[in-house]
Amino acid sequence: MPNRASPARRVAVIGGGWAGISAAVHACQRGQAVTLFEMTLRLGGRARSLHDTTAVPSDLDEAPLDNGQHILIGAYRHCLELLATVGVDHSEALLRLPLRLRYPRHEGLSLPPGRPLPSFVRGILAYQAWPLAARARLLMTAAGWLLRRFTCAAELTVDQLCADLPAIVKQELIAPLCIAAMNTPSGQASARVFLRVLQDSLFGGSGSSDLLLPRVPLSGLLADPAQTWLQVQGTDLRLGQRLQSLAQQGNQWLADGEPFDAVILACTSAEAARLCDDIAPDWAFKARTLRYEPIITVYLQSPGSVLPAPMLALQDGAQEPAQFAFDLGQLGHAPGRFALVISGAAPWVERGLVKTGLAALKQAEREITWHSPPKVLKVLAEKRATFSCTPGLQRPPAQISDGLFAAGDYVAGPYPATLEGAVRSGRTAAIKAATGL
Ligand SMILES: Cc1cc2nc3c(=O)[nH]c(=O)nc-3n(C[C@H](O)[C@H](O)[C@H](O)COP(=O)(O)OP(=O)(O)OC[C@H]3O[C@@H](n4cnc5c(N)ncnc54)[C@H](O)[C@@H]3O)c2cc1C
Repeated sequence: MPNRASPARRVAVIGGGWAGISAAVHACQRGQAVTLFEMTLRLGGRARSLHDTTAVPSDLDEAPLDNGQHILIGAYRHCLELLATVGVDHSEALLRLPLRLRYPRHEGLSLPPGRPLPSFVRGILAYQAWPLAARARLLMTAAGWLLRRFTCAAELTVDQLCADLPAIVKQELIAPLCIAAMNTPSGQASARVFLRVLQDSLFGGSGSSDLLLPRVPLSGLLADPAQTWLQVQGTDLRLGQRLQSLAQQGNQWLADGEPFDAVILACTSAEAARLCDDIAPDWAFKARTLRYEPIITVYLQSPGSVLPAPMLALQDGAQEPAQFAFDLGQLGHAPGRFALVISGAAPWVERGLVKTGLAALKQAEREITWHSPPKVLKVLAEKRATFSCTPGLQRPPAQISDGLFAAGDYVAGPYPATLEGAVRSGRTAAIKAATGL
């Protein structure tokens, strides 16, 4: 609890994505006087809805498109806690489904409800589309991961980790899980981080492997409720203000000349590197040299159409870009609207967005049965969607200097670039800032 006799420590949070929101909320809970700078006019960062009128043609309904379809999993404990803190009932706002790879015309692997580890074993054994030998090999390999406590050499890729698994298991389970969780192809993705994600989803307790699909546009999920909550707590919200400079003066930090006891850089890695180039060149170098992977989202419109499930796995390939399709009508956003997700999208960014949109449309026409011919509504590309989570990657740490901290999905931690990684890092930075470490 803050000491009533002394004024609250002033903390500046730079950036209002999920990491910055988490940092601001946790700093408020620790009695700090928080100022939050966000360069755009809205909170949410990469996990936001697009409120500009050009995002959706005006003859369609008003539900905003999201910057990209997001999914959470039951193991995202810190995200769920943050949502609850700002007053979001996540059992309403998120559709919880047992992990299931459902294809448009056939069932894929699914895990029955219940405790994750036994349900993983039961789900694999029951999946008769794979030969028994393939199922047995996967269970033996997974038992080996368990015995080694889900850790491995830092330099291994996911493909190397799974080299002994049958091709069908790699193709139908490992590759889609890896691209969905890490947005990095299995040939390049860090096996150690992949195992950590598996560990948390298989051992994180009941429901940890469940998929949680937002039933509301992303800004309604966290950014808007968090903004209201922060305002009620007296947070000084500076929307539309991009922090230009940071300097140290004695025990204080000057953010654009304004003094603070602590600063949390929750902006992008590139902006954080710019702001502390002179203060901490080694830290800035690590942040600046991270490589990024793009994600493309293709929104389709097809009045009257309903997919066999809210989320479908698709078969991607050289001419088929998308790995997943989401029925936004079943998720309560907009009936007849669909999101196709293209992760690890670098080759498709090179081909161009128009060609990618058409390829995704053709893929959807081939793989899915539609009530009315689908049309491309919007193609969105986020070129720096997530950092490339490769083996042995040196991520910049949370502490930059005394009283100066970093938060963001790229900051050193066990997770790949995810909402959970962002929220955890914001919480850690706020705790460090409150204790003055
Ligand atoms: C298309 C897409 C799909 C994704 N899908 C998933 C998913 O399914 N599941 C999942 O867990 N994760 C997913 N992610 C990743 C997830 O969105 C990110 O990990 C998370 O949003 C990162 O949050 P952050 O706060 O660290 O960074 P950001 O969201 O980038 O926030 C940084 C904020 O800082 C602001 N800013 C920058 N510079 C300044 C400055 N100088 N002054 C003030 N403000 C500044 C920016 O405007 C921004 O709001 C996806 C990402 C994308 C792009």
